Amino acid sequence: MRDIAILGSTGSIGTQTLEIIEKRGGFRVRALTASNSVDLMEQQVRKFKPEICCMYNEDAAKELKLRLSDVDVKVTSGMTGLCEAAAIGGSETLTVTAIVGMIGIEPTLAAMDAGCDIALANKETMVCAGHLITSHEWNRSHFIRPIDSEHCAIWQCLECGKKEEIANILLTASGGPFRGMTVEQLKKVTASDALCHPNWAMGKKITIDSATMVNKALEVMEAHWLFDVPVDNIEVVVQPESMIHSAVEYRDGSIVAQIAPPDMRIPIQHALYYPQRLESPLKQRMSLADIGAIHFEKPDNKVLRGLPLGLSAASDGCGMCTVFNAANEFAVAAFLEGKIGFLGIYDIIEECMRTIKAEKEPSLEQIFELKENTRELSLKFISSMKNPSAC
Ligand code: MG
Repeated sequence: MRDIAILGSTGSIGTQTLEIIEKRGGFRVRALTASNSVDLMEQQVRKFKPEICCMYNEDAAKELKLRLSDVDVKVTSGMTGLCEAAAIGGSETLTVTAIVGMIGIEPTLAAMDAGCDIALANKETMVCAGHLITSHEWNRSHFIRPIDSEHCAIWQCLECGKKEEIANILLTASGGPFRGMTVEQLKKVTASDALCHPNWAMGKKITIDSATMVNKALEVMEAHWLFDVPVDNIEVVVQPESMIHSAVEYRDGSIVAQIAPPDMRIPIQHALYYPQRLESPLKQRMSLADIGAIHFEKPDNKVLRGLPLGLSAASDGCGMCTVFNAANEFAVAAFLEGKIGFLGIYDIIEECMRTIKAEKEPSLEQIFELKENTRELSLKFISSMKNPSAC
């Protein structure tokens, strides 16, 4: 029986993680955290009985404390609470960081300081602070278990060869709901169009990021740090059926790919129970014959500009990746609120990357300063923009 801390337990990855450990067993839940979903957190605490439960939002923590007055649990709030939850139990614990956004960076570092094992679903940790994470002493005796489907696939494919034998990482992308559309068509798309992903059921932010291809750019940055492979050796390939979750090309010409149904419970389960392979969490097995064909194509970088913008940021280091990521975060929020059009997301990212100067390897403090500068600039830019679909 291992201990587990789940950061972001009420989100899409968090709820599926709890669903899997409830079914498969083997873990004792010691800490749960969320931002402000009090109702769901109350249910989770009553069911899984953690010692610590942190609501990042202080008012939500107060509300939860009242509701759980009959339960023996320590309710905390804010970044201090998150870091305490992340580090609970030290080396006995597997910490799952499934928080969305840059608030996931510090708890990941806290879990490392405490010697926990880490299963990572928070992209920003590697995107903005990859250099801080990979230079941490923790790496000498541990490795990060990636929960993202692509990185979990690469992790598995890398078990077929040695590091020096890798030629390229082939990171696959579904292409999102707007694959094949023209710029003219994209001017008219709405948030609800973008939220209909053809293959995956995910959170709102990541679904929009998948439509813009920003998600794929973030994944290239993540793969670079997770597997210590240069960005130039990571090729994005569109595979619209989302059956091949990524592949590794070795120097002898062999390409090793991981194929599985597009369901996050598979990579989550792999990260939780590694090195064991347990029974599939899905009821039905996948039949390749029923799928019939799997297609590949190059990404359309002229229309869906998230990938080239991100690659340009990656060549400038983690500071610019922070600007890229933060500008996108604010732009996506504005798009979801109907304040800007879909293509406006790219304009905001581009404007911020052009204007803000960023260190190649920023300190944690500088990372948050960059985020703040990006916030100010992007909000200014957003307020000067007009939503073309709203007029
Ligand atoms: Mg992914």
